[in-house]
Parts: sequence; structure tokens; C-alpha cells
Amino acid sequence: MRRKLVVGNWKMYGNLARNKALLEGVLSGVRELRNADYGVCVPYPYLAQAQSMLQGSNIAWGAQNVSQNEQGAFTGAVAAGMLVDFDCRYVIIGHSERRALFHESNDIAATKFDTAIKAGLTPIFCVGETLAERESGVTEQVVARQLEVILNHVGAQAVAKSVIAYEPVWAIGTGKTATPEQAQAVHAFIRQRVSQLDAVVAQDLRILYGGSMKPGNAAELLAQPDIDGGLIGGASLVAEEFVAICRAAQ
Ligand code: PEP
Repeated sequence: MRRKLVVGNWKMYGNLARNKALLEGVLSGVRELRNADYGVCVPYPYLAQAQSMLQGSNIAWGAQNVSQNEQGAFTGAVAAGMLVDFDCRYVIIGHSERRALFHESNDIAATKFDTAIKAGLTPIFCVGETLAERESGVTEQVVARQLEVILNHVGAQAVAKSVIAYEPVWAIGTGKTATPEQAQAVHAFIRQRVSQLDAVVAQDLRILYGGSMKPGNAAELLAQPDIDGGLIGGASLVAEEFVAICRAAQ
């Protein structure tokens, strides 16, 4: 039985005062919840704040990106070992905003995935199609291509230490959500692709849905057999909304 996982992606929002209030709200709302796992992926400068406020709680923390390089002259980049220094558990890799705005290719995402695993982090590896791709009927081919780079590159044992997030690009931050049936179909497809590599790994793998998940649609999405949690953008910035989604995952 896979345990559900709900992770907030704060993106480039927040400041010390707002984060404090948000984390206090989330901590008090989630404290009693025992049947699922929770996390927040915060901007780098706030990792120390997340660490100091969340340690000992049932909420893990992490980052939204990582360098594929271990160290060196890479101005502006942050290494996996640095995230480990702040006790991060998760790192989001291959988010569609990184792919589209920062030109991250499938190959770069795969290398980052590998780097994260080797550092002992849990990558949350994002895949998903654009609206044009969905409308032209190539969702499965796009998702398969994004997945294959990690399946071919790192192998089953590394995939077993990761989380996959299906995030249809057209649903991210748009208020449009995939229907539970649309999301379930792609989640089942992802699991089936992973099972070609290793059936046991596929069975245990957590596949999160991301794309305008809100308190009003979370329960229906999370009730699907292959949806094992959520990667939450906008709603993770409002304590009551994030907590309501966490409750729905119970
Ligand atoms: C995301 O950024 O990963 C995301 C799912 O955003 P939103 O929930 O705002 O659509």
C-alpha cells in the first residue's frame, strides 16, 4: 500500500515574515495527521528557516532545483551536497517552468536526477505535456520520452528512491485541472512504463499529480488508484488550503 505524499512548491514566493506565518499555520494544521507524508520545497535562501521551523515535525523540506555538478565555478548554482547540509529530503527536478524558462533539457534533468540520488536526496521528477501536445494526441509519447531518460540513465534501483510528478503543463497555475480520469490514465501509463523496467519498483513508486490541485478537487483526484499524492503550487502558499489538501490525503 503506497502512502500518500503532499508536497508544496512555493516557487519564487515568500519572505521571512510570510514564511513564518505560513509554516506555523501548516504545522498546526498537519501536526495530528499521521497517515500520509508531507513536505514543502522552498526557495534556497529559506532552507535554513524551513529546517529550523520544521525539524522534528511531520513535514519534510526541500528545494526546487539542484545543479548537476558537484562543485566548481558555476555562478548562481547550488549543489546537492549543499541541500544535504540543510537536511533537505526532497528536490524537484525537471519542473516545466525550469524546462520552459531555463531551457533545461531531458538530458540535463536526468543528470540532475542522478546527482540528487547519489547525494541521498529524493528527487521529485516532473513530467507532463503542453496543451498543444495533448490536443494533438501525443501526451503518452511526450511523457514516455521524459521518463525514458531517467529509466535508461539511472536504472530501477534509483527510480525506487524517487517520486514522479505528473504535471500537465496546461494545468499549472492556470486554474484548469486535469479531470480525475485524465490524470488517472496518465498515472497508470507512467506506472506501466516503469513496470517494464521493474514491476516491484513500479508498484511501490509514488506518482503525484500537480496542476491546480485545490481543496475543492483534491479528494477526487487523490481517490484515483494511481494518484499517490499532490505537488501543489498556488494552494501551498495559503496555509488553510494546503492543510485541507493534506487532510484529503489522509
Ligand atoms: C506546480 O508548480 O508544480 C503546480 C502544480 O502549480 P499549481 O498548483 O499552482 O498549478
